[in-house]
Amino acid sequence: MTLHRTLNRRQLLGAGLAGVAGLSLPLLHPSLAWAQNAPGLGTPTLPTPGFRKLQLGAVDIIALNDGVARRPLGEEFVKNAALDQVKALLASQSLPTDHIDIPFTAFLVVSGGQRVLLDTGFADNGGPTTGRLVANLAAAGFQPTDIDHVVISHYHGDHINGLRQKDGRLTFPNARVHVPAPEHAFWTDDARMAAAPQGMQGAFAAVRRVFNGLPADRLLPFQPGAELLPGIQTQAAFGHTPGMSTVTVRSQGQAFMFVADLTNIPALFARNPDWAVQFDMDAEAARQTRRRVFDQIVKDQMLVGGYHFPFPAMGRMRPEGNGYRFEPLA
Ligand SMILES: [Zn+2]
Repeated sequence: MTLHRTLNRRQLLGAGLAGVAGLSLPLLHPSLAWAQNAPGLGTPTLPTPGFRKLQLGAVDIIALNDGVARRPLGEEFVKNAALDQVKALLASQSLPTDHIDIPFTAFLVVSGGQRVLLDTGFADNGGPTTGRLVANLAAAGFQPTDIDHVVISHYHGDHINGLRQKDGRLTFPNARVHVPAPEHAFWTDDARMAAAPQGMQGAFAAVRRVFNGLPADRLLPFQPGAELLPGIQTQAAFGHTPGMSTVTVRSQGQAFMFVADLTNIPALFARNPDWAVQFDMDAEAARQTRRRVFDQIVKDQMLVGGYHFPFPAMGRMRPEGNGYRFEPLA
């Protein structure tokens, strides 16, 4: 590891960009090879059932697991901590230390007769232990045609590819798709794509595969902070990507925040909010955002949902040590 916590902001930013450049083809390639399970490490266990309902005042929030990917744990996963430290923190929570299981869980919000899906999984574009969202949606009693709105947190492949099947069909044919305007502007800039390193080309291409050809009246960019529907509000949470946005749902005095990739797996990056997962594009901005948002969630006693949190991926954040502990719903 060449990075340590003593690096200043400029160095961290530079390292963040370097991290993206070298970010590993597998991560961002449209084939999403990184979401396949690494050979020789066994197969991750998928949650059964793969959906879980939470009542929040007059609103239903349903966690919908799309799958889990298992990847080897190497030096690259946490950019600014020694592998020994990372393994020690996993071991202290009785978690394996030779691999990381990364779950993918989207959320359906049913509010005022509207069905709003937050992020989309992979559909049939990912590895063999992904692509379960639509089956889990059906198990929860909904069809893809029932989805009125999709809200996208950010444009990484594991969040957007589920909008469109491999053959080009839209998975949720009746949905309006709400996207963070700064995120959309970043990834759809052709000059930026042309100038981007080879390792990011796949991510830019995936954005075009998914969003090109969506009718203008179906693709609705929002400014982070905007209320999209009554009681469903977005917030800027930049850092992991240039325009990542969180979504807060409020009903009858209760609140739930979908934090998307504010952290990757909380066992590492909520417990140690200053650690940077390899996928954070601006590690220092991501670190500051992570602390700010988790502090708010704790102070306001909000329920939380995280895309890469262990299923049911909903629960509470509790202050612990230098960071926070995720307490899943019982
Ligand atoms: Zn993600």
